[in-house]
Amino acid sequence: MPTISDVKGNSARKNIEDALKKAKEFEEYHALLSLTEKRALERADAVDSGEITGKLAGVPFVVKDNYLAFGAPTTAAAKILENFDAPLQATAVEKLEAEGAICIGKANLDAFAHGGSTENSAFGPTKNAADPTKVAGGSSGGSAVVTALDIVPFALGSDTGGSIRQPASFNGVYGIKPTYGMVSRYGVVAMASSTDVMGCFTKTADDAELVMSIMAGRDEKDMTTLPDYFESTTVDGKVKIGVIKDTLTDDVDESVRNVTNEYIQKLKDAGHEVEEVSLPLVKLSLAMYYIIVPAEVSSNLARYDGIRYGRRAQNVKTLAELYGRSRDEGFVTENKRRIMIGSYVLSSGFFDAYYLKAQKARTLLIQQFDELFNKYDLLLMPTAPTPAFGFGENTDDPIKMYLSDAMTVPANLTGMPAMSIPAGTSPDGLPVGVQLVAPRKADAKMLAFAKSMETQR
Ligand code: GLN
Repeated sequence: MPTISDVKGNSARKNIEDALKKAKEFEEYHALLSLTEKRALERADAVDSGEITGKLAGVPFVVKDNYLAFGAPTTAAAKILENFDAPLQATAVEKLEAEGAICIGKANLDAFAHGGSTENSAFGPTKNAADPTKVAGGSSGGSAVVTALDIVPFALGSDTGGSIRQPASFNGVYGIKPTYGMVSRYGVVAMASSTDVMGCFTKTADDAELVMSIMAGRDEKDMTTLPDYFESTTVDGKVKIGVIKDTLTDDVDESVRNVTNEYIQKLKDAGHEVEEVSLPLVKLSLAMYYIIVPAEVSSNLARYDGIRYGRRAQNVKTLAELYGRSRDEGFVTENKRRIMIGSYVLSSGFFDAYYLKAQKARTLLIQQFDELFNKYDLLLMPTAPTPAFGFGENTDDPIKMYLSDAMTVPANLTGMPAMSIPAGTSPDGLPVGVQLVAPRKADAKMLAFAKSMETQR
């Protein structure tokens, strides 16, 4: 199981060649949309010659293909951006490169990060690392799978409603969603600007801490970033953990409940105080999310008009036809569905009834979380209601797919840090994760706690 420390210090060229070789070996999983081979090898030689140094010198990684990054097009897995070459790199990528990390390729996702299985990719789905007959999860399915298959020790994802944590759970790796504003969003294709956060997939909590500490920090180019606050720490002594019982009901898969309960026992054995708590509004989070997020999506996707970026419809006669056809050809069905829902909930006749009401409910949800954090250091719940599902199982009805986000969206709506920890497997061998949620800006503490539990294994 190569971690960052396993590969660091090796010849960078060897690391990159090994990663590229594995990427090709596992091509059938369709986790990667492109390789940035030429640029990666050049950077590897610069590391080996001592020209590039840093905490991640020569360590290969993969970016979700909605991060602007050099070496291959940035497509967001949508046809409208099929040949889009980034004019700049995302701040998060720049920061990792400044420490010597080397991007070897771009990972598959649901187009524009809309989805929970990677089946919405315009270029075909990704297969689950543990069972290729199941979905990878999503939307950062490709990034989770390249980490789980040991192609790279870490990969970047974006999490608007669970897109890092849910595929992390489905593939048996760590997935971290930081506090809203801890990592710059600059240079990442926007989904929903009030919930988008940038995070990573790793094999260990230690590696997650290292990668997050490098990506964290104020960025003048993203006005929503917070002043620097991340500082690695340790946890000693007893931690008070609340288990959100509203997320462990009968409609949650039995294997998920069992793995969560086993993890709770592990926490108790390690001497921590664990209590059941109630967070009634968690049940309404999905309804809030699927009003607020499409509203922001409809506005963020307005810029793709066939003129400024990527693909343009051919043989059109009028400007309206150019816009309409380019968008029709360039977006997948789920993108269009969200644009329509978003436009509807923002329209003058329905704004108060839907959008405003959802925003008010969101404030109440934040209050309920904050109240619990007066008493508890961390909250625990499953990451997703089920292990990875089969291809096509949830595609006939969009609501079925949305249900898979029920436990991840609360942390996005409240801006709180959360992570999925690989905790066990279902009887048929599918990975199952548990989720920790921490108060805003307690990212380092949450990671320190995960590290302390890792040594209990
Ligand atoms: N599955 C969720 C959605 O489709 C989350 C997506 C994400 O976090 N990018 O909205």
